[in-house]
This record gives sequence, structure tokens and C-alpha cells, in this order.
Amino acid sequence: MRAAFWEPIFLTFAPVTNSDKYEVVIGLEVHAQLLTKSKLFSGDSASFGGAPNTHVSPITLAHPGTLPKMNRKAIEYAIKLGLALNCEIEQVNYFARKNYFYPDLPKGYQISQHTTPICKNGHVSIKTNGEERKIHLNRIHIEEDAGKSLHDVDEAYTAIDLNRAGVPLLEIVSEPDLHSSEEAFAYVTELRRLVRWLNICDGNMEEGSMRCDANISIRLKGTTKLGTRVEVKNLNSIRNVKRAIDLEVERLIAIVENGEVIQQETRSYNADNNTSFSLRSKEDADDYRYFPDPDLTPFKITDEFLAEIKAGLPALPEELEKKYLEVFHLTSYDAGVICSDRSLVNFYEAIVAHTANHKAAANWLMGPVKSYLNDHGIDIAEFPVQPKKIAALIDLVDEGKVSFNIASTRILAAAMVNPAKDPAQLATEMNLLQESDSEAITGWVSEVIARMPHKVKEYQGGKKGLIGLFAGEVKKLSKGKADMQVVNKLLAEKLN
Ligand code: ADP
Ligand code: MG
Repeated sequence: MRAAFWEPIFLTFAPVTNSDKYEVVIGLEVHAQLLTKSKLFSGDSASFGGAPNTHVSPITLAHPGTLPKMNRKAIEYAIKLGLALNCEIEQVNYFARKNYFYPDLPKGYQISQHTTPICKNGHVSIKTNGEERKIHLNRIHIEEDAGKSLHDVDEAYTAIDLNRAGVPLLEIVSEPDLHSSEEAFAYVTELRRLVRWLNICDGNMEEGSMRCDANISIRLKGTTKLGTRVEVKNLNSIRNVKRAIDLEVERLIAIVENGEVIQQETRSYNADNNTSFSLRSKEDADDYRYFPDPDLTPFKITDEFLAEIKAGLPALPEELEKKYLEVFHLTSYDAGVICSDRSLVNFYEAIVAHTANHKAAANWLMGPVKSYLNDHGIDIAEFPVQPKKIAALIDLVDEGKVSFNIASTRILAAAMVNPAKDPAQLATEMNLLQESDSEAITGWVSEVIARMPHKVKEYQGGKKGLIGLFAGEVKKLSKGKADMQVVNKLLAEKLN
């Protein structure tokens, strides 16, 4: 047999890939539908759904002679978000007409803000791979939503539903500051947490109450000039924002690598088969012929209104997360989960208002409380035991009166059916109070040792793991009431 003339070798250096060669640049435009009762410029219901064309008055239908009227709540919500994102609030505002024709836009223009967005600058803090970054915002402005064209309810015609026409939106525009799909994912996740936290938008991307357009370009690493961008629409989940960006980046790199030129265009993402297709080449902003809406007076937001909103702002998730990590020493996982939802935070804060054991409070919330919520498919607001009672259970365990096990199963279960009773009272009534009186425990320990001479020999011969067996026997003998800390201490004393 002839000797092989080659054998594989393993490269010890990383090959140069396209992701080392190009830098990805992303700017996101997020539309958030505001949770106001009525529309931005009329009293029509702004609620989601409803039979088609039932949330419409002559104003929504753009009948001649109708006049818009500003919604105070929408302005308040915009300012709330702006303050939470460290924006400068523009106190002198006006609304502008953005003119374009579309069947679901009966006025022929959308009322929006042009040169005076209500919020400017500011940033969203994101964390990816444990590293924190500030993503700068360009602006947040208020505008009205359009209606919906329904192409699939009739074979021959497109149907129009104007329920959504005039619903208030915030458009949150980032600087081209994001550099990966992971960062974009984190950014939208953080924005959604915040709008839900402030209770100004339900953040539901699947229903379209939060929508995201991604602007994506690439450039050679080390260069600073922005490349030509593509804008991708129809991203109806945070996961799809990430998938669409990954797809576009790959496509853009392939175009450049082929020596072709990227065209500025608007594309649509199809999540079903992970593809995108061109909708149109990009129109210029000038095409909209913006001008101040003559039916709405320019207005100045008063200092008093601004101060009132500032004073009413809740503690923000980012600050709370920091406090839980640095002051309460929770794990970053626990702090993250608790701060993902304001109602969890409220419950947690209500526990720690009654106990100083912050870690135990997190363990109770993340453990027995959350598993009860999951098992019963309910919200923390419906949890049958008050946070104050959870704090009392924590104290019972800390005082050595009951074990965590007994507290989190039997006493917690009893507390659910007797919400008025104190956990200590329940423990007494159920005869679950732990025996930490060492005289009684000494008796049980001696009995177990006397019963198991062979095991004692083995233990003394070096099988130290048997301590668990003895402890288990003592626990049984005491019917679970012996304080195991005392048991272990006495066992060690007697056996050694
Ligand atoms: P338009 O209103 O036409 O969509 P804007 O200038 O308001 O355009 O920008 C929209 C978004 O596109 C912003 O989030 C911005 O950061 C982002 N963007 C602009 N240029 C680029 C680029 N070359 N690459 C990536 N994102 C970009
Ligand atoms: Mg755009």
C-alpha cells in the first residue's frame, strides 16, 4: 500500500470572515399605539378591534367642516416616555400635515409632528453579553395612525376599516447606533418593557400596537461614512426584528462582495419563509409637503403640566434593577426577571417592606409564588396570599421556627385558604412549629444513634456521608418538627 501523501491539519487561527470585514449599522423606528381611551384628535374610541367602522365619527371620516381637537392624555404619555428616556422635552409644539394619498387615509394627510418633535435626544440603555450601552435617540414624535386596508375579506374589492384611523401613536426614532441584530433585539425588548411599565402602550407586537421598522446598512470596519440603507417593514415580533436584520445583513454583504451597488429601498419581511422583497424605492421626505396644520393652534406645554408628570413618574426598571443588584445583592437573573414586569416589582417591594431578608424575598417570588402562578395560569395580581404574609413566612424560617420546606408547601397552602390568618398562627394550629429545644432533639438523636450501631461504626470508620442518613432518621422520628440545624450540630457532637 502506498503511503498517504497528505493528512488534514487544523488551523489554529480564525479565518477572516465577512463579519470581521464589515460593520453593521442599524437605526430603528418604533411605533407605539397609546393606551388612551379616545383618538388623538376626536372623541372616537381608540380601543383595539371592534366591528369594522364602528369607532368612527365625522372627524375620523374627514367630513368637510369637521375640526380636530387635541387629546391631553396623548401629550402626557409622550412626555412620560420622553422623561423616562432622558430626552429633552420640546415645550413649544405644533402639529403638521404630512400629505399623501392612501385609501385608508380619508383626509389625504396624516397629522404628525415635523420640525418640533415633542422629545429630542435621550437614550435607551441596553445590555448585551453583560456589557451596557446607551443607544441614542433622535426624536420621539406624536402622530395619528391610519386605517386598515383589508385585502382578504372580499374577492373583488379591498375593504377599508377606519377604526384605527386617528389612534395616537408615538414614533420613537433611534440614531444609527445599533451594531448587531442582538443589540436591536435588546433595544426593542427594553422599549417594550418601558412602555408597559409606564402603562402608555400594551407593547403587543403581534396585534400591531407596537411596530418596528429596521433601517440597515453596512460599511467597511474602521470607516465612518454611513452606507446606503434599506428599510425593512412588517416586523411583528421582537424575534422577527432579529431574524430580518440577520437576513438583510447577509444579503447586503453578498451584494457588495459581488461588486454590485446597494439601492436605497423599502422592503417587506416575510417571517413564514424568512425572505424579504422590495416594496418601493425610497421616497424623499419632501414628497410629503409638510406644513403646519391650520386647524390646530401651535401650543406651549406649561411648566406646571411638565412638573406634574415628572412628579408622577414611577421608579424606572433600570434603577430598580441596579438597586436589587448592588444593594440587595440579588443575582442578575433574579433582578432581571423581577424587573421585567412592574406588577412583579410591586409585589417584591411589598414583601421587602416587611422583611430585611431581600434575598429570601426574591427566592420566594421566583420559587413557590411563580410556580403557583404558572400552574394556575394567573397573574401576580391574583395571587391569593398578601406579600406581607410572605414576609411573615420568611421570618418564621429565619427564626428557625419552621423549615423552608414546610413553610413553602404546607403553611403557604394553608394561607391560601385562610388569607386572614397569620402564618405563625397557622403553623401553631397545624402543629408544625419546629422543635429547636435541644433537650427534645438530644433525645431523638440519642435514640437514632442507639438504633444503628453498625452505621455508627461505618461513620466513625470514615464514611462521613452517613450523617445525612442519621439526620433523615431524626427528622422522621420528630415528624419533621426538629430544627435540622440543631440536629446536625448535635449529631456531629455525639458521633465524633
Ligand atoms: P425616514 O424618515 O426617511 O425613514 P430618517 O432620517 O428619519 O428617515 O431615519 C430613519 C431611521 O433610519 C433612523 O432610525 C436612522 O437612525 C436610520 N438610518 C438613517 N440612515 C441610516 C443608515 N445609513 N444605516 C442605518 N440606519 C440609518
Ligand atoms: Mg422611515
